[in-house]
Amino acid sequence: MIDLRSDTVTTPGEAMREAAATADVGDDVYGEDPTVNELERRAAEMVGTEAALYVPTGTMGNQVAARTHTDRGQEALVERESHVYKWELGGFAQLSGLQVRTLDGGERGVPTPEQVREGYVEEDLHRPGTGLLSLENTHNSKGGVAIDPAKIDAAADAAHDLGVPVHLDGARLFNAATALDVPASRIVEPVDSVMFCLSKGLGAPVGSMLAGSEDFIERARRTRKLFGGGMRQAGVIAGPGLEALDNVDRLAEDHEHARLLAEALDAVDGLSVQPPETNIVLVDVAGAGLDAEAFLDACEAEGVLGSAFGETTVRFCTHLDVDRGDIETAVERVRTALA
Ligand SMILES: *Cc1c(COP(=O)(O)O)cnc(C)c1O
Repeated sequence: MIDLRSDTVTTPGEAMREAAATADVGDDVYGEDPTVNELERRAAEMVGTEAALYVPTGTMGNQVAARTHTDRGQEALVERESHVYKWELGGFAQLSGLQVRTLDGGERGVPTPEQVREGYVEEDLHRPGTGLLSLENTHNSKGGVAIDPAKIDAAADAAHDLGVPVHLDGARLFNAATALDVPASRIVEPVDSVMFCLSKGLGAPVGSMLAGSEDFIERARRTRKLFGGGMRQAGVIAGPGLEALDNVDRLAEDHEHARLLAEALDAVDGLSVQPPETNIVLVDVAGAGLDAEAFLDACEAEGVLGSAFGETTVRFCTHLDVDRGDIETAVERVRTALA
């Protein structure tokens, strides 16, 4: 089976298992796990922030950020197709008491400065006040598009001018950096916090990082504890996380595989594929007279997995555990499935 449902389906290889088995550990709630401390240090260095915090999931990273930046009852500006809004169980409301105000970030899922200014609410006797702007890069629902840092800068500057802090959901931050050929730290420059996943394209079995200023991370550490994310001898999972950071350099390979997959599928009768910018390939199957579910069932019967991303849209995601040969095989199998 060639599993292209997500870049989260990778399993840890030898180096990661070895790192798990041999990690130096201690109680991280006491700050005494040397492997976690090293992971937090290196993660901060890679994104150019003062500090970073290890969290079990990307969702927890985003939710901890929202709670740490805001006060209950405030508003958060979120993009209408963003992960924090669509796929995190309304966590901003449930966990932070926030009212979300959605902005339509258009084709690339990034709000303009004008939209940020229009969406802003000034606190007064009747109005809750805006406490956060949340952005996303790469934008998952828009097909893994890599957002130009200038666009992030513009939205973030508009928020900052209004005294509103900015969080970046960078679950696939390094995919964005690779595609744009800029250091991740450049993308992160204008924001107050960033989350990125070790467990997606980088192949770790678990874990994400939340990064920001020393003061922010100190407060986020308390929020993480509140949300039940204070872990003990977490070095056994942070060790593989450190290995995962070394996989940043090979993400271009996943992007190349996505490009090959997209080109080959676009040439198949009935399929229409937008050129991917990173490792996510969105395929419109309407021309084949199928809906997404029927198409995926046919693919699965031939040994290829993808995920439904809309009525007639399917997502294929390339990752560490598929090579060029797998991509070629996958294309053949999809052809057979449609024949
Ligand atoms: C996967 C994802 C998350 C959440 O990460 P989990 O580790 O699955 O909780 C957040 N944002 C984006 C854009 C994602 O793709």
